[in-house]
Amino acid sequence: MNLEKTMASLRRNGYTVSYFETGGEAVEHIAASLTEAGITTAAFGGSATLTAIGLHARLEADGITVLNPDFPDPGENFRSIAMKSVDADCYLLSANALSENGEIVNIDGVGNRLAGSLYGHGKVIYVIGTNKITSDVASAVYRARNVAAPKNCLRFGLETPCAVYARENGETRCFNCDHPRRICRSMLIHLTRPTGCGAEVVLINEELGF
Ligand code: SF4
Repeated sequence: MNLEKTMASLRRNGYTVSYFETGGEAVEHIAASLTEAGITTAAFGGSATLTAIGLHARLEADGITVLNPDFPDPGENFRSIAMKSVDADCYLLSANALSENGEIVNIDGVGNRLAGSLYGHGKVIYVIGTNKITSDVASAVYRARNVAAPKNCLRFGLETPCAVYARENGETRCFNCDHPRRICRSMLIHLTRPTGCGAEVVLINEELGF
């Protein structure tokens, strides 16, 4: 994994790039930058990384409203929070893979996470552990499909073929299944930063998410 090349590629592709050794440092950076920008509402795309670094609670402590479909407030549900997220000032998510050429790959089941990263938000922040970095876009797609997605199926306790195989064999692979609970419905590759979107990539030198 070539971190310097990855950061240079992301900058060339139009992203602001920050790097931190720990999730805690990244959380402080993100909280400060949102406050400085006057952002009052931040929406999350489903992310084990954001959960692991404790960003939700930290932003709420600063008075920022967090819209997180995975943790809906009482009286809300996944869809209602996801719909409100469309109007959030800022959208935060991770990635299933990041190539050293600066391509960001994500797979989604519902599509809200991909949509949030694609259009409509003035500021998008990707929070990515260095364990997600691969050499090129092909290996990034491979990682998203054969590592990240099966691990997320395990996380959700699903009985998809990849999850069953992973439990039995201790390794991951995709079976391109037609299981009704398939979580891989759409895949998005950001080749470069979308026009008009103030996007930042926050890299953390930790193994985070899947
Ligand atoms: S397509 Fe099916 S088998 Fe492949 S990772 Fe997604 S849920 Fe698992």
